[in-house]
Amino acid sequence: MTELTQLDGAVRGRIIRPGDADYDEARAVHNGMHDRRPAAVVQARDAADVVAAVAAAREAGIDIAVRGGGHSVPGFGTVDDGLVIDMSGLHDVHVDPANSRARVGGGATWGDVDHATHAFGLATTGGIISTTGVAGLTLGGGIGYLARAYGLSCDNLLSADVVTADGKLVTASDYQNEDLFWALRGGGGNFGVVTSMEFQLHPVSTIVGGPMLFDYEDAETVFRFYRDFIEDAPEALGCFFGWQIAPPLPFVPEDRVGDLFCALVACWTGPADEADKVLQPLRNVAEVKAEHVGPMPYPALNSAFDGLFPDGLQQYWKADFVRDLPDEAIRTHVAQAAGTPTVSSTMHMYSINGAVQRVGADETAFGHRDKAFAEVIVGAWSDTADNEANIRWVRDYYDAVHPYSGSDGGYINFMADDDAGRVEANFGRSYARLAQVKRTYDPDNVFHLNQNVVPAG
Ligand SMILES: Cc1cc2nc3c(=O)[nH]c(=O)nc-3n(C[C@H](O)[C@H](O)[C@H](O)COP(=O)(O)OP(=O)(O)OC[C@H]3O[C@@H](n4cnc5c(N)ncnc54)[C@H](O)[C@@H]3O)c2cc1C
Repeated sequence: MTELTQLDGAVRGRIIRPGDADYDEARAVHNGMHDRRPAAVVQARDAADVVAAVAAAREAGIDIAVRGGGHSVPGFGTVDDGLVIDMSGLHDVHVDPANSRARVGGGATWGDVDHATHAFGLATTGGIISTTGVAGLTLGGGIGYLARAYGLSCDNLLSADVVTADGKLVTASDYQNEDLFWALRGGGGNFGVVTSMEFQLHPVSTIVGGPMLFDYEDAETVFRFYRDFIEDAPEALGCFFGWQIAPPLPFVPEDRVGDLFCALVACWTGPADEADKVLQPLRNVAEVKAEHVGPMPYPALNSAFDGLFPDGLQQYWKADFVRDLPDEAIRTHVAQAAGTPTVSSTMHMYSINGAVQRVGADETAFGHRDKAFAEVIVGAWSDTADNEANIRWVRDYYDAVHPYSGSDGGYINFMADDDAGRVEANFGRSYARLAQVKRTYDPDNVFHLNQNVVPAG
């Protein structure tokens, strides 16, 4: 195994190698399934460290894994015998409240962003778990509560600084390296290491939201309601449908803990005095068995489910974009959900209409703006003895509902590692153009531990 000695003295961040006391901690990623042993982990402190790390790995001829928040389900943030560039030290967030913008480090999490921007009554679209990395999520698209109102995370990206495969630091925006900027907004980690991003922020502070749980027996009714309601609900309402085995939380009746429910999780960012009127139809659809909906700071909702996803769980996911949801598809979902194996396992159906669909189909590399929903089937559990059974549950669920999706592709950030065969479909209409941009910025495919776009020949 290479020692990568050329890194010593060339970087200011720590270099952690096999045998170091914290090697096991440094090589671990969120999904406990990936027990890989890198040659070294560089905990980058700045863009210069990244430049040195990319050069060293290339010289040594070893793979590079770029890690932001470490949440990639396929474990793209780690690699056997290669170099991990761990960006988590670059997590500063600088807010410019006068211009509603934030400059965000390439290793920040959504928790870092929410904390910094909330102080100014501002926010931008992020994921629904605060420990997820901003860079990985944004580069793939970025779906969250604010998407219907303000677009995907990548739609709010104004510029990015990127260390490319040839060791240059370039800025991509609407005014510089426009082709790269297009590709970064949906094309994943294919084009280099993002050291810094600038985002558009919006006036979001106290929201009215949270989960409502309904009996599993009412799921078909609730799911059909969601499909129809969300099509033209006010865009200030973010809302997704999902399954939830009730955890032991104060708002869940004690005798219902452990039961399978269906859930509507809402986030109303419009005027507070209109919240009841907007949310009432959700409460009318069936009897709400438990609910934790009310005014709360946006960061509180955005971290409300973090406890369901601690580091180290075994995770296996499958996903589709969904054009529409015929009743038969909904019945199939309900039947498959009956086997939901653990409290952290679920299916979420995210609406991607509203502001997401007002961005032109070819304005960014996110290639599926014609779809109504992004669906993800999540298997997450702690005991490796359950791997086979729980992976089977995800696959069976997916096989049953996929024929109704009206789409070959799924959201790249929701893919598992055995879905490499779907990459072209996942990028959809953007794949050919992404391959051209890849040829310009990474002709040797140095950055290939991702949903990989092969450079055009
Ligand atoms: C619990 C959980 C909840 C999630 N919720 C959502 C959600 O609500 N909405 C949503 O859209 N997605 C969600 N996701 C999916 C998430 O978007 C992807 O897992 C994403 O890849 C995570 O980014 P990361 O930086 O944490 O991951 P990492 O594992 O660090 O990186 C994943 C990929 O991103 C690239 N990457 C990361 N940082 C950089 C960087 N600085 N420069 C260049 N490339 C980089 C890497 O090359 C790699 O290919 C969730 C995932 C998990 C596990």
